[in-house]
Amino acid sequence: MNLNPIRLYYQTLLDALGPSGWWPAQSAFEVAVGAVLTQNTAWRNVEKALAALKAADAFSVSAMLALPIEDLAELIRPSGYYRLKAARLRNLLDFLAREAAGDPSLADDPALSYLSGQDTQELREKLLAVRGVGPETADCILLYALDRPVFVVDAYTARVAVRHGLASEDAGYDELQDIFSRALPEDAAVYNECHALLVRVGHALCKKSRPLCDTCPLGTFLETRP
Ligand code: SF4
Repeated sequence: MNLNPIRLYYQTLLDALGPSGWWPAQSAFEVAVGAVLTQNTAWRNVEKALAALKAADAFSVSAMLALPIEDLAELIRPSGYYRLKAARLRNLLDFLAREAAGDPSLADDPALSYLSGQDTQELREKLLAVRGVGPETADCILLYALDRPVFVVDAYTARVAVRHGLASEDAGYDELQDIFSRALPEDAAVYNECHALLVRVGHALCKKSRPLCDTCPLGTFLETRP
């Protein structure tokens, strides 16, 4: 079978590392909140912030919107950049409340069912219009919270793609997303797993300096060592 390189890398990583079981969250709402909190920070810090919100009985759209923003910021402090993230989170919560037509019981649905009937591209544009929600955050919400076939690009995706000659150094988010989306079947489960595998390999092996190519499952596909 003659697989395109990205499908081959995907299958190789899946065989070597096994399924990732992403996203590590209990509900679509938790994914959406986590997608904002994880900007520029490690997931373990996000977990602490999520735990603090839950311990304060503040883990819903209406409960967080009812909090003074200083209190919200204090609860999410472990995730870093907490004042900025509190403002961004508030913007996302306002968006969710609007989408639920101002009905608090609907807005607090952890499955975000009120977003389920919406067209993916329209929803993506609406998310991108929320201040503080960039393409990676919007696409994380679409893919991991709402199960939409939207490929998520991050710094690890870019690094692996450039080092393996799949993209140029100056490739932007949209170009990288297009490269991976075209190469893989348009399937949320495949996009979910492929992004997760790239994050795992990027975090553990494809380091910024001194990548561990000798122990990496993708090492055999490298023509030149980075
Ligand atoms: S660590 Fe080396 S082999 Fe693995 S993805 Fe990065 S560049 Fe490729």
